[in-house]
Amino acid sequence: MKRIMIVMGTRPEAIKLCPLVRELKARGDQEILVCSTGQHRAMLDSAMEAFSVRPDFDMDVMQTGQSTSEVTAKVLKRTDELLVAEKPDMVLVQGDTTTAFASGLAAFHRQISVGHIEAGLRTYQMHAPFPEEFHRQAISLFADYHFSPTVTAKRNLLREGKHESQIFVTGNTVVDALRITLSEKRPSLPWQFDDGQRILLFTAHRRESWGEPIRGMLRALRRIVEEHPDVLAVFPVHHNPHVRAAAKEILGGVPRVRMIEPPEIVTFHHLLAHAHLILTDSGGIQEEAVALGIPTLVMRYSSERTEGMRAGVLKLAGSGEEGIVALANRLLEENSEEYLAMKKPSAVYGKGRASAMIADILEKVV
Ligand code: UDP
Repeated sequence: MKRIMIVMGTRPEAIKLCPLVRELKARGDQEILVCSTGQHRAMLDSAMEAFSVRPDFDMDVMQTGQSTSEVTAKVLKRTDELLVAEKPDMVLVQGDTTTAFASGLAAFHRQISVGHIEAGLRTYQMHAPFPEEFHRQAISLFADYHFSPTVTAKRNLLREGKHESQIFVTGNTVVDALRITLSEKRPSLPWQFDDGQRILLFTAHRRESWGEPIRGMLRALRRIVEEHPDVLAVFPVHHNPHVRAAAKEILGGVPRVRMIEPPEIVTFHHLLAHAHLILTDSGGIQEEAVALGIPTLVMRYSSERTEGMRAGVLKLAGSGEEGIVALANRLLEENSEEYLAMKKPSAVYGKGRASAMIADILEKVV
């Protein structure tokens, strides 16, 4: 039996890879080795648990205060040791994290095939998002199989010289994840939704947002809530200390801003599905919002999720306070036509069958 090693290290990787792990294990045609690097310890473990996926190996690379280079070096070395011991026929990595880059590179060095899930996303701006844009471009250099979520992503890879036969358009496995969490699982929200309130879901954590950009976003949120008495902002505050300190200073004590610990994925997806409007700088949340048709302002100046913008569900708001407030105010106006035009689910990221499509392809190529 062929062996496939699937490596994950952060929350978004677990959310997007666990549906595939479940699919491959259910088929039972290949031996599946799940490997955690522990890059984002707590958030990774909770996401894996939500899908009942347990790691076969845990590299446990996380220590406080490590640089990206230190994490890269550890993942590279520990993956290499595992590859020598376990001899998989293929390594699957997802997205654009340090885990995906370093574990994929280790497989490349050992001349083991690499499959890249969510291949071909680009901003073509090396510092936005940083260092993810570098990671995703670098993974495309050494990967043998590119599983692209959309035709746009495939076109990027073709332009970069990849051969058509190496690229498979499958949709994004995040839509599979949504299907599982919303239909099979129950949320553990600490409160009931009040139908009279419009929920504004706010998240911000990107490295390039730290400092003044995130402060601007938080001030914008405060103003939006103050101007709209029927809006309840729900803000899962990322564990990063830069985000926590600014959130406490700018939003502490502001009525109708509920700052909560980041909920596990099942609860978060239910929250997302109930949101009236989303303000975020996250990548994965953009895709989920598009699949559910929840109007979303992306607090960045560029996004690799261009399909979602073309579908009309996402709008770029930048990270400046004035721009965010102006756009949000327009969308929160009563009977806003602009809002209604954004509120339509789109299947640009697939219909929740990406894992099955990837598994079909793996049956042929591994
Ligand atoms: N998410 C979650 N709890 C939260 C915030 C986000 O489970 O409090 C999920 C979200 O649904 C999405 C993923 O985490 O699937 C996005 O992760 P993140 O924003 O950290 O990373 P990015 O997608 O920007 O790489």
